Amino acid sequence: MNVHMSEKIMRPDFQGEFTASILAAAASPDLISFAGGLPNPVSFPVEAMEKATAKVLAENGVQALQYSGTQGLPALRAWIAKRYETMGVYDVTADDIIITNGSQQALAMLGMCMIDPGDKVLVENPTYLVALQSFHMFDPKIIPVQINPDGIDCEKLSETVKANPDAKFIYVIPNFQNPTGLSYTKEVHDKVVEILKGTDILLIEDNPYRELRFAGEATDSFGKELGEQCCMLGTFSKIVAPGMRIGWICVRNKELKAKLLSYKSTADLHTNIFSQLVLAQYLQDNDVDAHIEKTKELYRAKANLMMDCMRKYLPEGVTFTPTEGGMFLWATLPDSITSVDLYRAALAKGVAICPGDPFYEIDRGVHTVRLNYSNSTDEIIEKGMKLLGEACAELLGK
Ligand code: PMP
Repeated sequence: MNVHMSEKIMRPDFQGEFTASILAAAASPDLISFAGGLPNPVSFPVEAMEKATAKVLAENGVQALQYSGTQGLPALRAWIAKRYETMGVYDVTADDIIITNGSQQALAMLGMCMIDPGDKVLVENPTYLVALQSFHMFDPKIIPVQINPDGIDCEKLSETVKANPDAKFIYVIPNFQNPTGLSYTKEVHDKVVEILKGTDILLIEDNPYRELRFAGEATDSFGKELGEQCCMLGTFSKIVAPGMRIGWICVRNKELKAKLLSYKSTADLHTNIFSQLVLAQYLQDNDVDAHIEKTKELYRAKANLMMDCMRKYLPEGVTFTPTEGGMFLWATLPDSITSVDLYRAALAKGVAICPGDPFYEIDRGVHTVRLNYSNSTDEIIEKGMKLLGEACAELLGK
């Protein structure tokens, strides 16, 4: 039969066989994979969660198994609101927070509530692939703005904002961006605030990696200066565990908050309350900062090892941007080889990498590669980078 579906589509090239094969390759157990973006399971607090779960069932079993409110568990929202003090924002309240099914749902909700077909939306180029997919579902005109090693290109942003004052929002990942691993400096942060202040363009700050900084200085959240002109997205996926599927939107514009809540209730009524209660119990009974410190130490060692291996094994002409946190490194290949060439050659040697191309809205980064270091053992990093170096050298005829 013919199923008469909506005309809404994901960006067609994202549905191509190539992207599917990258994802399949990344999941294959026989491969060394630097292609995915998984946190290291060693960091998951399994025992503490077991205790928290038993306590929730013993003390709040009925609440955990019953329907609950759309906005999310008040105790969890209060914990998140207080956390914003570490990001320089002191006036967030529990009432400003909506708990979502991961921050991915927050992106889909914002797409749904903010975008009508043809609306202008500004993004970093490149940017998080699945955010692009979420926004494309609503048929916007996406306007990409280049990202540099110190953050978004402010000159280009300023021109773009002047030419498009009717843009609905700008989507940014100011810390350890996915895919590039780049962060905004304080200067770029301040300039972005200056450019956006006084406009009607909402800034959507997606910040899943901010707490994973193992070197350098953190910038405050954009919500500090932009107030209700900024929606701040966060998640427990990278600091506790992604399987719990708990993220949030901090939204201080009352009209937008009402719209988001109304959409959330039609999407899923509320985020899994069992999961919310277990997480709240975990946060109450454990020192999450000490837990995050341990995860950062783990990732610092892995990032340093991968950077050392890149210097040791990758041939001359391949460059990379050193990182100070997060989960990814970003490499640029010489003009004579593309990342798809390298993807194929590396796969033949049993190593999966993630070409940068699909993360670009325009000006495809055909020579760029994203490498994930968080989810490999040290032995695998060493072995995989050596093989990747060999694949590169063969392509370059060295
Ligand atoms: N935003 C960015 C930039 C991400 O990299 C990810 C996960 N890879 C997400 C949002 C979604 O994360 P989650 O839904 O697990 O919170």
